[in-house]
Amino acid sequence: MDLGIKGKRALVCASSKGLGLACARALAGEGVDLIMNARGSEALEEAAEAIRAEFGVQVVTVACDVTSLDGQARLIEAATGVDILINNAGGPPPGMWTDWDREDFLAALEANMLTPITMIKALVPGMIDKGWGRVVNITSQSVKAPIAVLGLSNSARAGLTGYVAGTSRQVAALGVNINNLLPGSHDTDRILALDQGTSQKSGISFDEARAQRQSTIPAGRDGNPRDFGATCAFMCSQYANFMVGQNVLLDGGNVNATI
Ligand code: NAP
Repeated sequence: MDLGIKGKRALVCASSKGLGLACARALAGEGVDLIMNARGSEALEEAAEAIRAEFGVQVVTVACDVTSLDGQARLIEAATGVDILINNAGGPPPGMWTDWDREDFLAALEANMLTPITMIKALVPGMIDKGWGRVVNITSQSVKAPIAVLGLSNSARAGLTGYVAGTSRQVAALGVNINNLLPGSHDTDRILALDQGTSQKSGISFDEARAQRQSTIPAGRDGNPRDFGATCAFMCSQYANFMVGQNVLLDGGNVNATI
């Protein structure tokens, strides 16, 4: 299926590894030129070069922290006039509700709510001028059902979801579609780190921690980032033009809800 976005340009934030990289690869597979970003330049350059070689698209790299004001300014400059924006950043650390102070909440809000809002505010006007644009925010299944140890994530991502719910409806008639893509457990470094944390805290092996967590997922396994990227690419396609303010959940059935 041709998604009809060949020749478009996309900024994919936080994309040297994991889900961001999977989205970048899927868009490149559709012929989309990329601006890729991560803090560490080594993995970023390696990922960008692999995509250039495999898909023949143009890839510009911007090594910076997307959650910093300076990083956002550099990304916005490099991405002026993009057709597609994928918002992503690292997730906040796990803990107990008693662990988190005002500063922790401010950092989480900055990274997982205010950063994507800044990027939307900066880049959506250019999409409106062209009468076409797509924004996909990578959030989390924790938006639909809380994950108690990820209280910082639950809070910040709920804030972004509320913003998108309203804003997406203000720009829908102007050709710009803003939606959220909600990962459940996917096989990336992030889930590896969470399983390592559980292993150390509970005194069980890493494999036991992983098996215990996976046994609670109806699909019985973690998601494949490649499939996540393909869903993201579809949400950026010509065929997603009637999808407005939605929260698309990819979780192997983990959120136990009828709708
Ligand atoms: P990952 O495998 O750890 O990859 C994170 C990527 O983002 C790396 O390329 C990293 O590169 C980059 N990055 C992190 N912080 C950044 C920053 N401040 N500025 C620029 N780049 C940054 O993580 P992932 O699993 O793909 O997760 C992506 C998002 O989905 C996270 O917010 C995570 O909480 C959420 N999520 C993931 C899962 C899952 O199961 N994987 C489930 C629910 C939600 P550098 O470190 O070099 O910057």
